[in-house]
Amino acid sequence: MNDPTQLKSYTPEALRERFRRDGLPAYRADQVLAWIYQRGVEDFAAMTDLGLALREQLEASWRTRALEIESVQRSTDGTVKAVLLASDGAAIESVLIPEPGRNTLCVSTQVGCPLDCSFCATGALGFTRNLGVAEIVDQVCRMRELLDPGQALTNVVFMGMGEPLLNLPAVLDAIRVLVHPKGMAMAPRRITVSTAGVVPRIRPLLAAAPVNLAVSLHAATDEVRDQLVPLNRRFPLAQLMGALRDDDLITPRRPVFFEYTLIEGVNDSPEDARRLGPLLRGIPSKLNVIPMNPHPDSSYRAPSDAVIDRFTAEVHGQGIRVTLRRSRGRDIDAACGQLRARGAGPGGSVSL
Ligand code: SAH
Repeated sequence: MNDPTQLKSYTPEALRERFRRDGLPAYRADQVLAWIYQRGVEDFAAMTDLGLALREQLEASWRTRALEIESVQRSTDGTVKAVLLASDGAAIESVLIPEPGRNTLCVSTQVGCPLDCSFCATGALGFTRNLGVAEIVDQVCRMRELLDPGQALTNVVFMGMGEPLLNLPAVLDAIRVLVHPKGMAMAPRRITVSTAGVVPRIRPLLAAAPVNLAVSLHAATDEVRDQLVPLNRRFPLAQLMGALRDDDLITPRRPVFFEYTLIEGVNDSPEDARRLGPLLRGIPSKLNVIPMNPHPDSSYRAPSDAVIDRFTAEVHGQGIRVTLRRSRGRDIDAACGQLRARGAGPGGSVSL
């Protein structure tokens, strides 16, 4: 879904090139980009440093919005979830997580998801299609309007609906817009891309942009991981961890952020915790433990607090840097693994 008339599907360089081909000076592209990304003005009529004739010409040939906000829900803890509609009616969700000193946006990369992880609500939707560059970028533009006055977006995580590495070219172009000085000028280290482990695309991601990598691990054995993340049958743990261990772009200054959704009776035993030590050895990393967020498509539950504490203590005892992340926005189904906007029905498939 990369619409050539959709302005947000262009990186700043590509837009300058396109303007040149249209017979317009490249600095006009920079002016338009500044209005859109720096000032949040998307209506050509309001771009007052462009002449009237040019504004009309641009108005006739370009579209600046890729998504419309359909609904907004606010959690008691301040988390904001929005359902956004694409021009074909596809619905996706984005989640804004305000915290003291930082505001994180969680964006989607696909309509639904083909990976079908057994504990994730998005997987139960099936897969419809990849999002286009403009649809990824526009989540940032639409959602930042929902921040309180005076607040700015500080972090973007590619942890919403979908598997980012199965839509890598669009994800990379979206990142280029987010970090470009003429785009949103965000620091790459404030961007995190999470993958369930599409091994051959990890290195291309790391090499293309100095963003953070998160890997959804969830298990220390293939037997358990096969049940939770079916992609593990294609790229088993030895292959995934071997690729991370051998990648020279993963360093103590650029560690991997492992995510471990803790599920009662499935992956929460002291033995599971102890297996993580040898598994992670040699990979500069941190491990985030996320107690399972319940949803109607799954019978999995989070363990008790006592079991969660025992698990994290055991992991810590293995010399692993571990943090416990209590998901935000659970009362509005905005927490990890709870995104399931309606309208994302079953559909196509993607190939690796
Ligand atoms: N497909 C990518 C991006 C999605 S990230 C990936 O798998 O990494 C969403 C994160 O939320 C993943 O770590 C996922 O495993 C986790 N998650 C999914 N369902 C969850 C649930 N019900 N409770 C807690 N975390 C969940």
